[in-house]
Amino acid sequence: MGGGVAMEGLMMGTQLLISSLIRNADRNHGTTEIVTRTVEGPLHRYTYRDAHRRSRQLANALGSLGIKPGDRCATLAWNTYRHFEIYYAVSGMGAVCHTVNPRLFAPQISFILNHASDRCIFADLTFVPLLEEMADELEHVEAIVIMTDDKHMPRTSLPNVHCYESLINGHSDDYDWPEFDENTASSLCYTSGTTGDPKGVLYSHRSSLIHAFRSGLPDCFNLSARDAVLPVVPMFHVNAWGLPYVSAMVGCKIVFPGPAMDGASLQELIENEKVTFSAGVPTIWLSLLQYLEESGKNIQTLKRVVIGGSATPRSMTARFAEKHGAEVLHAWGMTEMSPIGTVNHPKYGMEDETPDQIYDRQIKQGREVFGAEMKIVDDDDRTLPNDGKAFGTLKVRGPSVCRAYYKEQRSDAHDENGWFATGDVATIDPDGYMHVTDRSKDVIKSGGEWISSIELENIAVGHPDVAEAASIGVHHPKWDERPLLLVVPRNGCDLTREDMLEYFNGKVAKWWIPDDVVFVEELPHTATGKLLKIKLREDFRDHVLPTAHQS
Ligand code: AMP
Repeated sequence: MGGGVAMEGLMMGTQLLISSLIRNADRNHGTTEIVTRTVEGPLHRYTYRDAHRRSRQLANALGSLGIKPGDRCATLAWNTYRHFEIYYAVSGMGAVCHTVNPRLFAPQISFILNHASDRCIFADLTFVPLLEEMADELEHVEAIVIMTDDKHMPRTSLPNVHCYESLINGHSDDYDWPEFDENTASSLCYTSGTTGDPKGVLYSHRSSLIHAFRSGLPDCFNLSARDAVLPVVPMFHVNAWGLPYVSAMVGCKIVFPGPAMDGASLQELIENEKVTFSAGVPTIWLSLLQYLEESGKNIQTLKRVVIGGSATPRSMTARFAEKHGAEVLHAWGMTEMSPIGTVNHPKYGMEDETPDQIYDRQIKQGREVFGAEMKIVDDDDRTLPNDGKAFGTLKVRGPSVCRAYYKEQRSDAHDENGWFATGDVATIDPDGYMHVTDRSKDVIKSGGEWISSIELENIAVGHPDVAEAASIGVHHPKWDERPLLLVVPRNGCDLTREDMLEYFNGKVAKWWIPDDVVFVEELPHTATGKLLKIKLREDFRDHVLPTAHQS
């Protein structure tokens, strides 16, 4: 058949390298600002050109510390300009920028640092005590760089300590970014690890650049040189969803919030720095919205808010639109996917959607962004139809999806045809909108049928007296599992169990309505702000439902 010989194209083999992003930002957007609320306190401002210069100084400094291509350098740091420089200097020189989530438990952090064999750690002032606690356990670390200036250097018992500013000031900015294979590892991020040991996802320059191209698209983040971006999602959570890369690609202004994530600090930055775009998990936005409502303050310049990491409740989309004129874009992804998989934008022909139709659509996680192919399968791995009704395990593949975990021989999540099982259960409708019904391990299994814990939670937080809610399956003698709802009431509200259950009437099938409600002061979260259901299931394992005695 055929017998032809494919021809090689005659285009340049320019490698897709992270250094090309910062070079681009310097060349085309050299005077565009990067503003940071620093860990030390005051606002810091400079430009892409300054960031590029200092990244080159840092690359020279890393060389002087003996860091070589392929070495892992860890960060324990907030979203700041120095962290941005580390992203570019470490990856740009061919080493691996390993962002560590400082909210993990200390033994998990030392496990991760040892597993990755990090030779160097960059740490913000905030995390010096944390490192002091674990210093004896760190097996490979040869240098610790405290991300501050001479004036703020703390007294510390840590060995081999350097001050960031003194370190880079001693080095020239004369540095040519090396050219190498775009498949070289660029950065490393461990998954939140709610069960078992955390697993490392090792991104490449190519996967990061492709992700950056995709995330700038109009139906993804829709970013341009006319935007001011506030990455609220931490740079230790899947590279701040890739924002430090796509920002340098499009040349938008960046506003880094540092450690101050409270409503007042975010509002002040948004207004003063004329932020147009932001991204983060629902819990952060809940506290900002509450602050805005209590203070009467505004966020007038903010046009688009990407919300992901956990399901975005309908009520949040409505509050942003109606009270603040901001469009919520529901997004879904995973550490293993760099992370963006879907974003929810309307299609041609949907121009006349009413606000209610928009909020209903935004409950779904959105459409596939090119390069993250999706399908749903049943328990026998047969592909299910995209009819918006059939639900099954969501699988993905593409150039920004991991094909293996770092230092793991095998992965149960990867199949022989190159698909990665996300662990999410979803539907996909004929227009391509994907809806996460649940994490497969969080689905409530009642009498052989599935109840979506996410949907129950979304409804519960729509109640005006509810601050936060979680729903889990607990044992039931007849139905195997039935839903229990845990509710954190808003300050000062005396919500009753009956009110809460009544609120579900007409919003879900009768058999989905929780069997019981327990009011709690707070709910446990993972280090990336998701509800820690595993802990809730443990805490409420012996909870006896009032329906348990009915047959
Ligand atoms: P992580 O790798 O820590 O970012 O976690 C990825 C997981 O977070 C996904 O597999 C989902 O279970 C969950 N997730 C992310 N975004 C959403 C979303 N928009 N709605 C529901 N779950 C989400």
